[in-house]
Amino acid sequence: MDLQLSKILIVDDILNNRIAVTKILQPLENILVIEAASGSEALRQLLNNNFAVVLLDVNMPGMDGYEVAELISSTQAHKHTPIVMLTAHDPSTNDILRAYEVGAIDYLTKPIESTILLNKVKQFVKISQLQAKTDYLKSERELILEAAGQGVIKFTSDGIIQFINNKACQMLASNAKQIIGSHFNDWFKNVDIEAYDDLFFFLQSRANKLGLYQIKVSKLIDYNHNSHLVELTCTSSKNSPGRSIIVLFQDISSRLEMESRLTHLANYDTLTQLANRACFHQNLTQALKRSKRSQSTVVLLLLDLDRFKQVNDTLGHDVGDELLQGVAKRLTLMLRETDLAARLGGDEFAILIEKCQSSIDAELLAKKMVALIAEPFLIRDKEICIEVSIGLARSIDGKADKSNLLKSADIALYEAKAAGRNCYRLFVPHMSVRAQKQAHIETKLRKIIEKNLLDVYYQGQFCLVEKRFVGFEALARWPKSNFGKKPISPAQFIPIAEQSHLIQELGSQVLRQAFAVLQSWQLSADTRHLTMAVNLSAKQLNSYDFLDRLESVLDQFNFPFAKLTFELTETALLNDSEHVHKCMNTLKSMGFSLALDDFGTGYSSLNYLQKLPFDIIKIDRCFIQRLGFCHKTSALVKAIISIADAFSMSVVAEGIENQIQLDCIIPLGCNKIQGYYFSKPIPKEQISALLGLINIPSENRDSL
Ligand code: C2E
Ligand code: CA
Ligand code: CA
Repeated sequence: MDLQLSKILIVDDILNNRIAVTKILQPLENILVIEAASGSEALRQLLNNNFAVVLLDVNMPGMDGYEVAELISSTQAHKHTPIVMLTAHDPSTNDILRAYEVGAIDYLTKPIESTILLNKVKQFVKISQLQAKTDYLKSERELILEAAGQGVIKFTSDGIIQFINNKACQMLASNAKQIIGSHFNDWFKNVDIEAYDDLFFFLQSRANKLGLYQIKVSKLIDYNHNSHLVELTCTSSKNSPGRSIIVLFQDISSRLEMESRLTHLANYDTLTQLANRACFHQNLTQALKRSKRSQSTVVLLLLDLDRFKQVNDTLGHDVGDELLQGVAKRLTLMLRETDLAARLGGDEFAILIEKCQSSIDAELLAKKMVALIAEPFLIRDKEICIEVSIGLARSIDGKADKSNLLKSADIALYEAKAAGRNCYRLFVPHMSVRAQKQAHIETKLRKIIEKNLLDVYYQGQFCLVEKRFVGFEALARWPKSNFGKKPISPAQFIPIAEQSHLIQELGSQVLRQAFAVLQSWQLSADTRHLTMAVNLSAKQLNSYDFLDRLESVLDQFNFPFAKLTFELTETALLNDSEHVHKCMNTLKSMGFSLALDDFGTGYSSLNYLQKLPFDIIKIDRCFIQRLGFCHKTSALVKAIISIADAFSMSVVAEGIENQIQLDCIIPLGCNKIQGYYFSKPIPKEQISALLGLINIPSENRDSL
């Protein structure tokens, strides 16, 4: 701190007196002498300056010294400024008394004894400089207190407020006058109501023991009864009498809000407000620990939406997002407070159920979820249908660890998808073996497709009227070489391809091979009449880029589109979505034929016949197998054939294996046959041989 010059005011109407006094004061350092020749001039100087001491002559014309002294000490700014009266002669007791009365603190008689004056003034300068220093320190301390931005309150050992800074006044929404004298506990409370009720006593005892004690969150009730969350730091000052307590505090309401927002962001999915993957894993770990302790069962459900990608791609991400939010809402509605729903990413969800009484409860829940999600969502005035597959796994008494439980639920989910989706499966150990086998097949299939090694066989369709093969169905085949000794049947690898998204590429490869054969048939009159049928899976048809893929393959070939039939099973149509309808109508308008495959195995085949533009019905093998044994089946097949007639569709009977079956189907009016009896699926190289070699058994010819 720089010491300022101490100013001394000499008031005397006689110049020589002023000069004499100034000379006496010369030895003093750090002083500035200011002279005034009259009372009024003195007062003017006092307006602009603070003085360490005023040396005031009593006898002056105009305003005398007493009057000037009285005026000086009556002002707020100068009431503590020391005034020393200088009298010309021996003063009377009255004069002295009057001097004190008007505010002087001392008097000196003229002629002035220079050493006395010098020493007196020296003392006043010293006092004034000390005062300036304390003022400075005080203002600096207050500045620091305010700059810290914290409320600072000093309490007596009884908890009574002795001092409070401005910030604290603001936070208490009151002023120092009102606050000083009140008690700590009038303002500060515990957040936890159950805890100690005398918060001051608690803080004081901790602070006395530890010197410094902090309470992370406590409540401040301000003068207007508003409550704020504050952090309190409490120190016990050993030096002050009775060990006063100083409390620093700051409002942490917004910080806590920010912290809780950050925690929420770190743990919750912003789109659905469900727990995110990290939070889910944390909860799962904890739940398994608890279940071990309490010998209870934890059930984990993994959910996967089918066709979500398609919704996203065709209707846009905004609709996709709203759909995910809708799904999350429906899931949450079905849960208890203790259950946890999470979005693991994309269209994958998980549900954690603690203390599950029995797995039947969890299965029931899964069943309800499947049904609830299958109900259409109304988004932006559009009905959107989506399905969910659910895999369930249990950990009884915390026996299964986290990764095993997740793996099991994943396997069960895979099973649910393989079972045609829109369903749930509870994990049972034998699923593990199957899952491993399927994973093995998937790996091999991926390689086959990557290397373009998939085989296609062709099965002839024989027309009993024309007495010749009129078409072939292309059937995917596992290549014979390199990929295991035993070829894997399409009934096994097609569903795996469907689940692992390999089906699109597999489908394209089958199309390419079948189109090449169909194109080659156009070169000869013997084969030009033949049609080619290709199977389409639900997954292919549902994929948003199916038509693009098809067109890019079609571009490479040349044949009449009417010669190509797409075979669809009922499951391909189950979603009954607008997209599938559109796709089918496009195929139809391009000139292709459409066949409803495996007719009669589903629930609503008739329904599809009415709604969709099919040209051909393929009667499933299971009916053919019962022909000749069961009268009802004959009646049913007859009915199917007459329905087809009514819709002007043709009928193909699948899976005719023997003469008996053929004999049964002929009278029913079906004239197109596909089955081992006429031809097994064969490689393309054998087609021409089949076409040339075919000989209908003679006894049949008569009945044709
Ligand atoms: P699908 O479309 O119903 O094909 C007819 C199935 O019946 C073929 O089985 C065929 O070999 C078999 N079959 C034909 N005649 C007879 C018979 O007289 N007796 C017996 N027991 N079976 C007969 P495959 O080739 O094993 O195919 C099974 C299924 O795999 C197909 O059923 C079809 O749904 C699917 N699939 C085959 N290839 C493809 C393909 O390229 N794409 C798609 N999406 N699915 C395919
Ligand atoms: Ca078929
Ligand atoms: Ca079939």
